[in-house]
Amino acid sequence: MNFCSQCGHPVELKQISGDHQARMQCTNDACGMVHYQNPKILVSCFATWEDKVLVMKRGTEPFVGKWAIPSGFMENDETLQEAAARELFEETHAKVDIDKMELYTIGSLIQMNQIYVVFRAPLLSSEFQTTEEASEIKLLSKEEFPWLDFAFQDVSVNVQRFYEEFENDDFGVYVGSLRNGENIITEVSHRQAPSGEK
Ligand SMILES: [Zn+2]
Repeated sequence: MNFCSQCGHPVELKQISGDHQARMQCTNDACGMVHYQNPKILVSCFATWEDKVLVMKRGTEPFVGKWAIPSGFMENDETLQEAAARELFEETHAKVDIDKMELYTIGSLIQMNQIYVVFRAPLLSSEFQTTEEASEIKLLSKEEFPWLDFAFQDVSVNVQRFYEEFENDDFGVYVGSLRNGENIITEVSHRQAPSGEK
């Protein structure tokens, strides 16, 4: 950032007393606004139908033409679940029940300055529709998934693991981090499959 979003004057990197790192601060003494830069929150949802997961081909950059799980940035004034369901609907017109969304993974994308929060939820119906953001949408099993054309190769193992757990109806909850291409995922909780089912 070069200019203050509050008053339009130039900003400069300054060490502010008591802070552990330098910040962009407005050079206009009458304003002096400190512009903190913090991670954005990326939400996504594994939306499932029978033994398949809803996957979309990206219609926009980056990675246009590659496949991805629907995702997007959280807005102010919404919950994580509302954000994930909204992004799913905006991109694919597919619907999930917010009350049935379960937390799957939360993690840090260090270089991208993003936190990702992934839910899983059954679709309310198998209806969906292409949009500007999704040029093609499919319900795919693990065998059908376009692994080589997946947009985010660094975390494709997360998708593989989801499919395996989905097959067994036995899910973990994970904390992850992606730094310099190194994707680390740690299970922090586990939901045992109910006995007698699957
Ligand atoms: Zn200013």
